[in-house]
Amino acid sequence: MLSIPPDVAAAIAAHAVATYPDECVGLLLGQLDGEQKVVQVSFPVENRWSGQVTLAEHDDPSSRRDRFYLDPRDYLKADRAARAAGLEIVGCYHSHPDYPALPSERDRVGAQAIGGSSFAFVIQSVQQGIATELASWLLVDAGARFIQEQLHLGEV
Ligand SMILES: [Zn+2]
Repeated sequence: MLSIPPDVAAAIAAHAVATYPDECVGLLLGQLDGEQKVVQVSFPVENRWSGQVTLAEHDDPSSRRDRFYLDPRDYLKADRAARAAGLEIVGCYHSHPDYPALPSERDRVGAQAIGGSSFAFVIQSVQQGIATELASWLLVDAGARFIQEQLHLGEV
């Protein structure tokens, strides 16, 4: 289960709206206790997508409207910030402009190198520039599929 306090949920939504119609990306810093993760703060990073994962030949490799790239250098920056605050990276988030908060095949391929089995993949849907549904996913079966994770919005 992943808990996200209201101020962090609002920050994720604001980031997703600000980058619309492109996807936004960021990391979630907090406390990890077994399967229970409590987010304390979000760590927005730049979507540095420039054609790292191409699934089909008709893809526009430079589009950031349906993809994101989490740069390992940004991940390290977030990791340092987390450690300095006595926290750890418990997950990441990205937005889905005009698409539901469901992980795409590209998300699954891109997620293979990120985090461990309890790492939360949070998706913020943005419809017509307005933040809507928020959902959290876990990558299971050795990266074969995502399952939805229980998401608690509110103070713990
Ligand atoms: Zn996605």
